Amino acid sequence: MNPTQTILVVDDAEINLHLLQGLLQPDYRVLTADNGTAALQLALEQQPDLVLLDVILPGMDGYAVLQRLQADARTKHIPVIFVTALSSAEDEARGLEFGAVDYITKPLNPIIVKARVATHLKLERQRRMLEALANIDGLTELPNRRQLDKVFLTEWEHAVRGGSELSVAVIDVDCFKQYNDLCGHARGDWVLRQVARTISASLLRSTDFAARYGGEEFVVVLPATPADGAWLLMDTLRRNIERLAIPHPGSDVSDFVTISVGVAGCRPLPQQQAALLLQKADQRLYHAKRSGRNCVVGDGLHSSFNSSAVFSPDLPLDFPGL
Ligand code: GH3
Ligand code: MG
Ligand code: MG
Repeated sequence: MNPTQTILVVDDAEINLHLLQGLLQPDYRVLTADNGTAALQLALEQQPDLVLLDVILPGMDGYAVLQRLQADARTKHIPVIFVTALSSAEDEARGLEFGAVDYITKPLNPIIVKARVATHLKLERQRRMLEALANIDGLTELPNRRQLDKVFLTEWEHAVRGGSELSVAVIDVDCFKQYNDLCGHARGDWVLRQVARTISASLLRSTDFAARYGGEEFVVVLPATPADGAWLLMDTLRRNIERLAIPHPGSDVSDFVTISVGVAGCRPLPQQQAALLLQKADQRLYHAKRSGRNCVVGDGLHSSFNSSAVFSPDLPLDFPGL
């Protein structure tokens, strides 16, 4: 049993609340509510793993509570079991149509209640694990591209609303094909894990976000960060990677594993497309590659591999407003 899981029991009869509480309390954290409004508030604040919901309640009935839970993005994922004296097949069908995951009829049989609760909590745990796994890259354990797409759009919209700046960086390991060819794919995988770890360790704020974009490419999203600040942070990262001093026998640019980075930042406006900012960073990455690798290219800023920052002409890109 998992005492960290929370169940919200909603019933207007005190005797039923006591009964269910007594039944479930030893194994779970149990919250109770005797009306729909209190239930909705508790669900929102406490984010229970499961709700046991009486259908007949004074005021807002169980069907209405379920509808309200499902209409709110913050509570729609919480599974609901109807617990009720209504026992006709139509009642049960109606409850399930409304989106309840199960239906338990009164009088309650303790063994059945405990078994169904355990089943649905297990399903909920597995659902959460799958959701987390679907957003994580297995090799580096960084968020994957799917998660990046979600986070980048959310941060873009947040920046539009708040009028704040947003920067992104695209990071690519230099001459990595040669590394694999000379050192082996398994050693290449190890290098990608070291690069991922160094990226995470180099980010300073809790809102900074790194993901594996695919292959040997990574993307960093930096909310509330202007382009020049992002450039500085990425140049520190570039030096941190170089300082790992991982020997790279096939590199054209260094004795060690190095990265190239393209950086772009802007103050997003509602009519602009988020994807263009990422595209701009990606084009600057290619500029960094053409300029000799192991460098960071941003808004008119360019670091050479010997760490001296020099200005270079910006790319002839034309993204209005970016
Ligand atoms: P550049 O400096 O221009 O970026 O050259 P590069 O060789 O790094 O770039 P290219 O795109 O030609 O090759 C990327 C290589 O990355 C090819 C592929 O074998 C390797 N790679 C991609 N994903 C993985 C991975 O998961 N593990 C390993 N070991 N290698 C990978
Ligand atoms: Mg690449
Ligand atoms: Mg590469």
